Amino acid sequence: MAQCVSCGRELAEGSLYCNTCGAAQNLPYRKLYRSTAQRQLLGVCGGFAEYWELDPTVIRVLYVVLTFFSGILPGVVLYLILALIMPKR
Ligand SMILES: [Zn+2]
Repeated sequence: MAQCVSCGRELAEGSLYCNTCGAAQNLPYRKLYRSTAQRQLLGVCGGFAEYWELDPTVIRVLYVVLTFFSGILPGVVLYLILALIMPKR
């Protein structure tokens, strides 16, 4: 849960304004993390899914399809590089 920057009351995640005092919330910019909640392997696809607010399964299917069409190895190497770069939440 997020908290109002002005009155400290709990807000729904992603609220732009506080329901109680009406203060505009300066939302933290979205960061790309490896997801710990939506992970099958290292959470890379789950992280993209959370970042883009998409179904992680859709991301994984797309990633696997792209990996196959690119000859598998580039996709696997890219996945490992992303896993190294992206911090874990
Ligand atoms: Zn408030």
